Amino acid sequence: DATIIDGKGFAADLRSGVAQQVQALKDQHGITPGLAVVLVGENPASQVYVRSKAKKTVEVGMESFHHHLDANTSEHELLDLVQQLNDDERVHGILVQLPLPDHIDEDKVIHTIDPQKDVDGFHLMNVGRLATGDLDNAMVPCTPLGCLMLLKDQLGDLSGKKAVVAGRSNIVGKPMAHLLLANNCTTEIVHSRTRDIAAECRDADILVVAVGKTRMVRGDWIKPGATVIDVGINRLDPEPGEEKGKLVGDVAFDEAKQVAGAITPVPGGVGPMTIAVLLANTVTATCRQHNVAEPARS
Ligand code: NAD
Repeated sequence: DATIIDGKGFAADLRSGVAQQVQALKDQHGITPGLAVVLVGENPASQVYVRSKAKKTVEVGMESFHHHLDANTSEHELLDLVQQLNDDERVHGILVQLPLPDHIDEDKVIHTIDPQKDVDGFHLMNVGRLATGDLDNAMVPCTPLGCLMLLKDQLGDLSGKKAVVAGRSNIVGKPMAHLLLANNCTTEIVHSRTRDIAAECRDADILVVAVGKTRMVRGDWIKPGATVIDVGINRLDPEPGEEKGKLVGDVAFDEAKQVAGAITPVPGGVGPMTIAVLLANTVTATCRQHNVAEPARS
């Protein structure tokens, strides 16, 4: 059977590394990294994420600034707040929790964030830096960067490997493909219009799946020994007696683990990496803003 990749454990180690880096910034430079999280409205999932981000931010010794705005906040007011956070020296990272209410233009908000403080890596400046391979200056989106860290931990040098990314979203699929390319993989993106998606996947030494479709990738889509990273988070309907349905990925885990060399579980794989990388990105952003040597990341 496949090695089960322990994303939860890796994320815990990453957070303790971040906590040490934060302590060093305080001791050696008198700097406390600060992360501002902005939430607009009452989306319950967003509220859970934001609370969990704030808690973990404080746990690693950083300062957490929380701004919860009313659902009918105007775009203008939100842009003003972002500008204020851009100008605030205590704030090194700014995260605006998406989705935003319909009357607010998300792109406009993202592009108002100072690219150096854009710890989600969604500003076009950071997208462009990643796409041109300028990883020394890019802020890289958290989920794909977390996937890359797991892959490098598992496989070491990725040069020359055939990587297939399923899904082409701007948040996961595309930045993932750019990261793999930057790490010298022969990289392909497959998506909903791909002609024979199973055949393309079967060719992959590295298969990263981010499509949001319950157990879409079956065991016979996987090359024996391949490393499989399952980004999907899908909730099944509750079984009788269950309050909530189980969380499952985009890969049929029980089949896939009999074929793959290594695979991430859901939950406990990629999920916990996202917040840990957000904290790591905040340290990276802090170092760059203060011209301090930054810790090596993938
Ligand atoms: P998205 O809906 O924005 O993009 C999905 C992509 O999959 C699209 O590019 C689409 O072309 C492709 N796709 C859809 N149906 C397909 C099919 N039948 N065959 C092939 N490709 C298909 O989603 P996203 O934001 O990229 O997220 C993908 C999944 O990852 C979701 O389940 C989401 O919940 C999860 N996710 C997890 C984390 C995490 O922290 N672990 C972070 C972000 C997203």
